[in-house]
Amino acid sequence: MQYRTVPKTGEKLPALGFGAMRLPEKAGRINEAKASEMLRYAIENGVNYIDAAVPYHKGQCESFLGNFLLKEGLRDKVLIATKLPPWSVRNPEDITRLFDKQLTDLKTDYIDYYLLHSLSGESWHKLDSLGVKDFLNREKASGRIKNAGFSFHGDRESFKEIVDAYPWEFCQIQYNYLDEINQAGTEGLRYASKAGLAVIIMEPLRGGNLAGDIPENIMEIWDKSKIRRSPAEWGLRWVWNHPEVTTVLSGMSTMDQLTENIKIADDGLPDSLSQDDLRIIDEVRDKYKETMKVGCTGCRYCMPCPAGVDIVSCFEYYNSYHMFKNGNWAKWQYVFRNYGLMDGKMSYASLCTDCGRCRKACPQHLDIPLFLKDVAKEFDNPKTRIFVAIAGLYLGISSKISGIFRKKKTFGERP
Ligand code: SF4
Ligand code: SF4
Repeated sequence: MQYRTVPKTGEKLPALGFGAMRLPEKAGRINEAKASEMLRYAIENGVNYIDAAVPYHKGQCESFLGNFLLKEGLRDKVLIATKLPPWSVRNPEDITRLFDKQLTDLKTDYIDYYLLHSLSGESWHKLDSLGVKDFLNREKASGRIKNAGFSFHGDRESFKEIVDAYPWEFCQIQYNYLDEINQAGTEGLRYASKAGLAVIIMEPLRGGNLAGDIPENIMEIWDKSKIRRSPAEWGLRWVWNHPEVTTVLSGMSTMDQLTENIKIADDGLPDSLSQDDLRIIDEVRDKYKETMKVGCTGCRYCMPCPAGVDIVSCFEYYNSYHMFKNGNWAKWQYVFRNYGLMDGKMSYASLCTDCGRCRKACPQHLDIPLFLKDVAKEFDNPKTRIFVAIAGLYLGISSKISGIFRKKKTFGERP
């Protein structure tokens, strides 16, 4: 396994980390026999960074991992990463209560890499006001947290603000060859790296969309390369090619995925792709972009929207939904992010009041309100509302999202 160094501590992390959100399942529960076999193999082969979180596998992930590590006597051989769920925090006491429960579930006295989960500007401000910095300082001093970080799904400005707000050891961002300008993007990656943070990458294959069920016109481009690589290998190598990247998380569900990824991780070194390789990836990116429904470049000149619409993420997910054969990943990302399931902030397309302000600001001359109408038609429908209501109950934030029912008059239609 190739290892990369955490700048502030010198600790070595594997280039490939095990994302424990897509473990094999059977009848809606983690298939413990198969998942254990995969974890054992991963750890034996140097994949010793395991990324968990409270909501993964409907709350089963941390308990399963804790039991597995205890039973196999492997706690000291792995680095556990897990996350504080900001949506469950209402007061400072909640933070400690949730953390204590995570230690109990994971059957450990300490967390190696502790993250504030899926931050945006809003959720960061909330946690900050509830004293999360004091909590991190306290738990780091007590040794129950070894390294503090955050995962992120907001806009670039908020990302930089959070990077500068605390002496983090690491952060975690979504990054792949189609997300250079989305969310933290390349600029955020470099910013965090320059600030001395290790950068963990999630969604290197965009929820698997860059790896499986690839459109024929994209496969034709990959097939032109003299070097034979699977689309997954191209995608992962592109991320590892960045020297600023520390560890790439892959949410693996099968032994085949695991063994393939371990093999690639060995020589997915920084700056190892040739100019020809990079040209092929550029061509694939351009081809994907041709199939975008909205020619949004993510420049953000249209933001902020007075009605609260996150125009950029609406178009990002709408484009992804139409670019890939399986658009469900994009749809669920939209629901989680734009319906406030992570931070309580509503920013879905049908909040648009058609004021026209953004239209004037767009250098691409996009008729933004008109495109948002298309997004709303596709995504903001009764099925979405019901899902959001159920998810809100599960996450304990139903009061925050009840507004989606009160806004029925404008929901999905022009006011
Ligand atoms: S037209 Fe809609 S999206 Fe654009 S600024 Fe006005 S409310 Fe926001
Ligand atoms: S101004 Fe236009 S191109 Fe820029 S982010 Fe907004 S919609 Fe996209």
